[in-house]
Amino acid sequence: MTASLDKGLTSEGLDFIRAIVEADLRSGKCDRVIVRFPPEPNGYPHIGHAKSSTLNFGLAAKYGGTCNLRFDDTNPETEEIEYVKAIKRDLRWLGLEWDDNEFYASDYFEKLYEWAQVLIRNGKAYVDDLSEAAVRAYRGTVTQPGRESPFRTRSPRENLDLFERMRRGEFADGARVLRAKIDMAHPNMKMRDPLMYRIRHATHYRQGDGWCIYPFYDWAHGQSDAIEGVTHSICTLEFAVNRPLYDWYLDALEISPRPYQYEFARLNLAYTVTSKRKLLQLVGEGHVDGWDDPRMPTLAGIRRRGITPQAIRSFCEAVGTTKVDSISDPSLLEHTVRHDLNDKAPRVLCVLRPLKVTLTNYPATKRETLNAPYWPHDIGREGSREVPFSGSLFIEKEDFSDDPPKGYRRLTPGATIRLRYAYVIRCDDVVRNADGDVEELLCTWFPETKSGTTTSGPKPRGTIHWVDASNSLPCEVRLYDRLFGAVLPGDGTSDFKDDLNSKSIEILSDCRIEPSVAADKTDSRYQFTRLGYFWQDPEVSRPESLVFNRIVALRDTWAKLTARTRRHDVPDVEPKSPTLRQRERKMPRLDSEAERWVERAVLTWKLSRQDAAVLATAEGAAAFFEEAAQIAKPNAVANWMVNTLLPARKGKPVHGSEVGPKDLAAVVALVDSGRITTRTGRAILGQMLESGGSPEQLAAERRREAITDPEALIPVVEDLLEAYPDKVQAYRDGKKGLLGFFVGQVMKATRGKARPQLVKELLHERL
Ligand code: ATP
Ligand code: MG
Repeated sequence: MTASLDKGLTSEGLDFIRAIVEADLRSGKCDRVIVRFPPEPNGYPHIGHAKSSTLNFGLAAKYGGTCNLRFDDTNPETEEIEYVKAIKRDLRWLGLEWDDNEFYASDYFEKLYEWAQVLIRNGKAYVDDLSEAAVRAYRGTVTQPGRESPFRTRSPRENLDLFERMRRGEFADGARVLRAKIDMAHPNMKMRDPLMYRIRHATHYRQGDGWCIYPFYDWAHGQSDAIEGVTHSICTLEFAVNRPLYDWYLDALEISPRPYQYEFARLNLAYTVTSKRKLLQLVGEGHVDGWDDPRMPTLAGIRRRGITPQAIRSFCEAVGTTKVDSISDPSLLEHTVRHDLNDKAPRVLCVLRPLKVTLTNYPATKRETLNAPYWPHDIGREGSREVPFSGSLFIEKEDFSDDPPKGYRRLTPGATIRLRYAYVIRCDDVVRNADGDVEELLCTWFPETKSGTTTSGPKPRGTIHWVDASNSLPCEVRLYDRLFGAVLPGDGTSDFKDDLNSKSIEILSDCRIEPSVAADKTDSRYQFTRLGYFWQDPEVSRPESLVFNRIVALRDTWAKLTARTRRHDVPDVEPKSPTLRQRERKMPRLDSEAERWVERAVLTWKLSRQDAAVLATAEGAAAFFEEAAQIAKPNAVANWMVNTLLPARKGKPVHGSEVGPKDLAAVVALVDSGRITTRTGRAILGQMLESGGSPEQLAAERRREAITDPEALIPVVEDLLEAYPDKVQAYRDGKKGLLGFFVGQVMKATRGKARPQLVKELLHERL
C-alpha cells in the first residue's frame, strides 16, 4: 500500500533517519553508509525486528552502503544457536541479504578486553569489589547523587592485575566487576560509573568456556559498531539515555572515524506483546503451539499464518520511522495483508460449516462441471477452473435461516438464492432431526438460470457459496483471532497472560472445499469466497488431510464503525484562567522546610520558583511530584500539577485520587512525546479522576476512535459511494475534481476524525 499515515516526513519526503544520512553523505561526514541490524539471539525475531531490520537493510540498499547482520551475543545465559538459526532464516524470508557481512559481538571479546585495558591504564576504569546490592545502593536515585565506591581510587596497576585475574577465572561469579570511572553525581544515572564487565562462569554457545567475564551492552555495543566501521547506529528510543555513555566510551578510546547513535520509535502493535521475554513465556508455558504458532507476532508465526514477506515490508513502510512512540492497530496490518493478497489469491469455494442441500428436481445421475473464473472482473486477470455440480450440495449453515433478521439476503423457506458460478435455487422444505435442528434443505433447481447464460427465471435475493457434496474434499480450517483481548496486554498490574483471548483459535474439522485445490502447490494462497484469505498450514497440512489457516478475514466481518464503543462523556479538566493562576502564584508563604524544597527543585529539576512553591505548599504535592518526575520530564510534570491536577482536586490532597504519580507521568509523557494533544491529555486526566483507568489504554481508545483504522472507515466510504452513484460515474468519466467532494463528505460523516490521507486512499481503491 502507499504510505498512508502521518509520518513526520521532511519536505523532500524523507523520514528523519534518511534526512540525517543524506545530510551526512552530502557534508562528507561519511562517504559510505554502514549500518547494522543487531539482534540478540535469545528468542525468535518478531514483527518489531522486521521493522528495525528492514529499516537498516533498506538504508544500505537505498544509499549503496552495507548493512551488517551482527549477533549481539554477550550474555551466555540466554543465548542459543537455535535462535541464531531462526533469526537468519526469518530475515532471509523477509528478503534481506547480508552476504559475508555476518558478525558476532562475541568474536570481538578479545578486542574489547584490550580496549578495557586501555581505559584502565588511562585511569578511566577500575575494578570494584562492592557486591551487586551495594553497587545499586551506591548509585543514588534520580534526585540524589550516588556515592563513590571505596575501590574507586585503586591504581591502574592494581586494576590491571585484578582485571587480568578476573579473566583468568580466579574469582567467583559476582565477586568483582569492571566499571568505567565517570561521575557518581552525574544527573544521568547511566553515567554513574557504569558496569563494563561482570564475572559469569558460564558456557557461551559460540565461545564455549573461553571467557568467564562478559561485557555489558553499553560497553560492547558502540565498540562493536566502531570495529565494523558503522557510520549510523540506529536503535530504539529507550536507548536515548544511553547515548551519552555510547559517546563517552568512543571518546575515551579516541576512536576515529566513529559511529553515531540515532534513535527511532519502536513498532508497537495493539493486542500484541513483542517482548521476547514474554513471547518466551507464552511458548514455554504452552499458551501457544510453539514460536511459529500462527497467532504469534514472531516472523515464524506470521509466515506460518500465511502472510507474505511483501505484506510485512509494506506494513513496516506504512508505519514509518519516527521519533514519536505510538501503537499501531492490528487492523492496519490486516488491511495491508488484504491489499497484498487481493490480486495474488485466486478465488475458490469452501464451506466451513456444511448444511446439506438436495435439489429435488435435478436428475439423479446428472453431473456437471461448471467453468468458474479465478478472479473477479476488476482484478483483470485471466484464469479459471472447473467446479463439479450435482443435485447434492453443501452450503454454509449460516446462510440459511427460518427466522431471518430484517434485511437477510440469504436462504429462507420459500426464498430464492443464487449459488455462485451456478444456478438459482429455491428452498421448499426443511428436514429436521429429532432435536429439531435443521439437517437438510430440499430445494428446486432452475436450469434456465445457469451463470453466464441469459438471465431468465426467478430473481435471487443474494448470492452464496457452496460445494458439491460428493465431489468436494474434506478439510480442516483454523480461524484465528487476536491472541490478546486487551489493547495493551498486562497494562497496569495484571499479568499479561490474564489478557489472553480464550477464543483466539477456532478449529473447524468438517469443512468441504472444491477439488481444484488438490492439484495446486501447497504454498498457494486463496480467497475463499465470502470468507477470507487462506492457505495450507505448512506444518500440518497433508494431501490426504488438508488443513487451512485463515490468514485474514474479509473486511465485512469487521465493520466496527457501527459498533463503536461509546465514550464516557466526562468533561475535560479545564486549566484555570491565567490571571487566576498568577494570583495564586504569588500566594504561597513558605516555611523553612518548604523553602529548602523549593531551592532543591529549582536546582535539581530546573522548576520555576512559582511552580516549586505551589508544589512545596500543597499537601503531598512535593512527594507526588518527585515520584512522577522520575518517569516524565520534571518541568512538564510540574506544569501539569500546578495548572491542571491541583486545580481539579479543588484543595483536596493530590494523592487521594484515582490518579497516582505514575498515572500523571504517563499522561505527561504521552503529551510530551506528541502521541496525544494537550487537550486530549486533559480529557484523559478528567476521565481518570472520575473513574480511574490507565492513561495508555484511554489514549489508545481515543486513538482508535480517531479512526486511523481503515476497517472502521470502509463502511462509511462505501455507503457514501452508494449514495452518490451519479457523482461516482462522473468521477470515473474524468471529473477527478470530485475527489475533494467525496473526501469532504467522509470527513463530515466522521466528524473530522478520519485521516484525510487514508480516506483518499480508500476512495482511490474504490473509484
Ligand atoms: P525484545 O524486547 O523483543 O527482547 P530487544 O530490543 O531486546 O527486543 P534485540 O534482539 O536486542 O531485541 O533487538 C534487535 C534490534 O531490533 C535492536 O536494534 C532493537 O532496537 C530492534 N527492535 C526490537 N524490538 C523492536 C520494535 N518493537 N520495533 C523496532 N525495533 C525493534
Ligand atoms: Mg536488546
